Amino acid sequence: MSHPFRTLVPGAVLLFALPLTAVAQTPLTGFTAQASAAQRELERRAIALPSSDSARRIARVLSSEPHIAGTPAQERTRDFVNAELRKLGLRVETRSYRVYLPHATGVQVWRTAPQPMELRVEEPAIAADPVSAMPQYPAVNGYSAAGEASGEVVYVNYGLVEDFAKLDSLGVSVKGKIAIARYGRSFRGIKAREAEKHGAVAILIYSDPIDDGFVTGDVYPAGPMRNSQGVQRGSVYNGYGDPSTPGYAATPSAPRVGTGQMAIPHIPVVPISYGTATSLLEGIRGTNVPAGWQGGLSFRYHIGPGPVSARVKVTLDDAPFKMIHNTIATLPGTVYPDEVIVIGGHRDAWGAGAGDNVSGVTSILESARAVVRALNGQPPARTLVFATWDAEEWGMLGSTEFVEDDSLRLQRGGVAYLNLDVSATGLDFGAGGSPSLRALTRELAREVPDPRGNGSVYATWRARYAVPDGSEPVMGDPGGGSDFAGFYNHFGIPHADWGFGGPGGVYHSAYDSRRWMETFGDTNYVAHAAAARLAAAMLLRLANADIVPYDYVEFGTTMRRYTERTSRQLASIGAGNASLLDEAWQRFIERAARFSVVRDSVTRTTAPIGYDSVRLGTVNAALRQVERRLTRAEGLTSRPWVRGVIYAADVDNGYSTMIFPTIGEAVRAKDPALARRELSDLVTRIERAGAALDEARTALTAPMRVAPRRGR
Ligand SMILES: [Zn+2]
Repeated sequence: MSHPFRTLVPGAVLLFALPLTAVAQTPLTGFTAQASAAQRELERRAIALPSSDSARRIARVLSSEPHIAGTPAQERTRDFVNAELRKLGLRVETRSYRVYLPHATGVQVWRTAPQPMELRVEEPAIAADPVSAMPQYPAVNGYSAAGEASGEVVYVNYGLVEDFAKLDSLGVSVKGKIAIARYGRSFRGIKAREAEKHGAVAILIYSDPIDDGFVTGDVYPAGPMRNSQGVQRGSVYNGYGDPSTPGYAATPSAPRVGTGQMAIPHIPVVPISYGTATSLLEGIRGTNVPAGWQGGLSFRYHIGPGPVSARVKVTLDDAPFKMIHNTIATLPGTVYPDEVIVIGGHRDAWGAGAGDNVSGVTSILESARAVVRALNGQPPARTLVFATWDAEEWGMLGSTEFVEDDSLRLQRGGVAYLNLDVSATGLDFGAGGSPSLRALTRELAREVPDPRGNGSVYATWRARYAVPDGSEPVMGDPGGGSDFAGFYNHFGIPHADWGFGGPGGVYHSAYDSRRWMETFGDTNYVAHAAAARLAAAMLLRLANADIVPYDYVEFGTTMRRYTERTSRQLASIGAGNASLLDEAWQRFIERAARFSVVRDSVTRTTAPIGYDSVRLGTVNAALRQVERRLTRAEGLTSRPWVRGVIYAADVDNGYSTMIFPTIGEAVRAKDPALARRELSDLVTRIERAGAALDEARTALTAPMRVAPRRGR
């Protein structure tokens, strides 16, 4: 769905002023010296195993046809993935759910004035790209309402909350009109929500060439960017998981809410190309566009309303409930079988989806092969799960139903969730996730050869952003735009993700195809393989560590950096400052540092570690509590399902991330009393999270209980 770390501005963050010397001979964090050597050897084998030939074979099968959630083609990808994972000897199961998933059956857009004509909505076949000639999903946004609407056309820029405020100030209303918005800067579901809230009868969302079309590069098929007929499909649902079963699993007998209670539009929402948008935008007159509203088409934009009018018609099928299928392959751990590391990525797409997300699924399958072959029959200490999710594109349905269904096991035993959503559409590395796993991601990126062939992924990454010594490349914050949301934003299970990107304008289009991938994206599937190498290393490290190598010093340091901004926000509504928050993070960092000193002294001086799995199990259970305690059962005021109090997708933007969202939302509501209460709530939670670090340290250092002698 969205891929925040690939849209980051280049930059660097100052972390620790440590020299970047080789650490090859020091023990791995959380391992004894003795275990480190064997683990390094295991990871070396695993990193070498993924191959671009194998990735190519898998990717070509999966990208051979459009595979929308709820279709027979998507059942074929399920069967293929299960067969591949079964070949590896993994325990394979399908977890299916019945969800609200209406499919569009038709869409039409007309210009009704001036010069009435029907406009092109479908993406034409391109001779060089046979997959583009196959039947495509209609160009309708997922969860658009059915119906017909007509009215004058109003240009609303990106359809942001502030764009509608600007229209209000200009005295332009969309009430009874058809809004036309450009893609970008916010999640499309927010554009639809705001248009509907302001009374629009329909909204058209088009891809402006200034964002991913000819202004930015040559267009497909000559280049990788969006051509004049390329359409970005995508969901306009502002929620997580099946909309008919909010907060609980969509089992066959689960009670269902009506469509009126779902966070979905009640007006038609249709994506169009810039070729088609030209036929509407060019003739709009009326109010001149404010600064920043002019797009990349070769005429002056106006807001309207009119004199251009349009008519939009969307039809949906009459069987909106459909089955979706997650595939779950398990490699049981033998020492800590209830501790689980999950790697997952979505298997559904809006078309053939070579990039989004055949690439991620391919990398997951390659990582599974690498892990199984490298282990060579020797089981991991913890359980590994290789998952592919259905219906992510509609609003993370498959992964959300899974976490809601398996909530007890995951809340208790979930060690980490690794997400691969678009793992390879270029050769430029990016990564993100919880700050507790960033050090590990960087460390293992040093061990993976860069797909361009020179040095490591890590070295190339630093070089690309000219990161100075003592700093690290910026990594993305987990806001909620992909399948990690259920694991991280809902449950507080530490999460990491990564991928290789590059220039492209075929996102959610029929041209996100094998031909695009093999001509422009990852032509030789080397990035697919590199993403799998990193995945295999991450999985094995997390699976076998005696003490799971979360970095809570980096976590606390990252968080503390945001407190100044929070102070300014609080001050802006007369709610004081965030010094309590700053102090809380300071104490958290100190506790994290004390824990890591003890962890390292225990693992580095005792060989073998001299602790049994019961004691280590207690230590790791305490560590898993740290981020769990940074969630709250009642969730955010705006969205109870979002329980994390550290990061959330901004409820008024969808793509940007709000840090400390409980406070942020109170500030936005201009409620100083609530903001102070939320500040003290957050401080309390940080204290409790820090206490988990003390619990882990105590569990590590408490005297060993000697079993009492029995009998004589
Ligand atoms: Zn995706």
